[in-house]
Amino acid sequence: MVTDTLSRPLRDLRISVTDRCNFRCVYCMPKEVFGRDFQFLSREELLSFEEIERLTRAFLGHGVRKVRLTGGEPLVRRELEKLVALLARLPEIDLTMTTNGLLLPQKAAALKAAGLQRVTISLDSLDEAVFQAMNDVGASVESVLRGIEAAEQAGLHPIKINMVVKRGVNESSVLPMVRYFRERGHVLRLIEFMDVGHSNGWRLDDVVPARELVETIDAEFPLEPLEANYRGEVANRYRFRDGAGEFGLIASVTQPFCADCSRARLSADGKLYTCLFAVTGTDLRGLLRGGASDDEIHAAIGAVWQRRTDRYSEIRSAATVDLPKVEMSYIGG
Ligand code: SAM
Ligand code: SF4
Ligand code: SF4
Repeated sequence: MVTDTLSRPLRDLRISVTDRCNFRCVYCMPKEVFGRDFQFLSREELLSFEEIERLTRAFLGHGVRKVRLTGGEPLVRRELEKLVALLARLPEIDLTMTTNGLLLPQKAAALKAAGLQRVTISLDSLDEAVFQAMNDVGASVESVLRGIEAAEQAGLHPIKINMVVKRGVNESSVLPMVRYFRERGHVLRLIEFMDVGHSNGWRLDDVVPARELVETIDAEFPLEPLEANYRGEVANRYRFRDGAGEFGLIASVTQPFCADCSRARLSADGKLYTCLFAVTGTDLRGLLRGGASDDEIHAAIGAVWQRRTDRYSEIRSAATVDLPKVEMSYIGG
């Protein structure tokens, strides 16, 4: 396999396997927009597992080593373990998934057996009322904790927990979440609420800046910053001084990291996006279904990545917030 040297390295690939979800998180798929009449992708529009595997191989040829399955909710895609099995046998691939955890009790063992290595589970609060208001379908904290336990038992380690923090909604849940997950050895990652898509009604005032979160946590659990594991790592990492593990902050709003961004996103219908805030993607499904060779697909990906100049988070302003963008549930975060 030939590996090209591209202008900015391409290391991570996020693959959305579906645009559907069993949650309606207020910051991602608000019910007013993603209601009964919302037109989700049809089965024929979705990439098949074989098509996803073929595209993934082409991305590996460009240096990608980390592949994350996401969505929508990846576990609502039927027989996802079959895709995991296809991808897990590719050489030198670090394969992981982001999920809301609800279906993990049924799926964790099969995913592990198929070759999934790790998992990130999203949970925004341990407070029942707060969490149910945020997922907006009445899913309980307990149901997600059962998913986390299933992942632990299946050996999908290390487990990361993603928590989106929204001002006035779940700020008070931060310390209880830190306390709970540090005791259990899982890495909590606090994420600044982002203006992805155009349906979540984002305002800068809704963002709790990472610096403020660090101060709040440090006051109860003294912290020390950690070096990044590698250039382009999205989370700023901190270690608890008492030795009880670490946590991360994803400060994409207040401390943008576009210069080091090495992440490509593939939508469930096969469009390549070079930025979370992109307006349009490049259709790779058309190439696949039009009979393109592996070399042609490889070249098409390289051409898109070479042209890439994205730096949305560095130029975000009141004006950019209203620009058209793809939805988070469509390209997977
Ligand atoms: N459904 C899965 C889940 O929730 O984990 C995977 C897809 S979800 C789009 C991926 C990640 O994006 C989740 O951790 C979610 O919390 C995060 N996310 C969604 N909308 C966001 C927003 N507006 N700002 C910041 N993070 C967001
Ligand atoms: Fe679904 Fe994940 Fe978006 Fe929540 S964040 S609505 S679980 S895709
Ligand atoms: Fe990467 Fe776009 Fe996010 Fe910047 S705004 S870090 S280029 S995804």
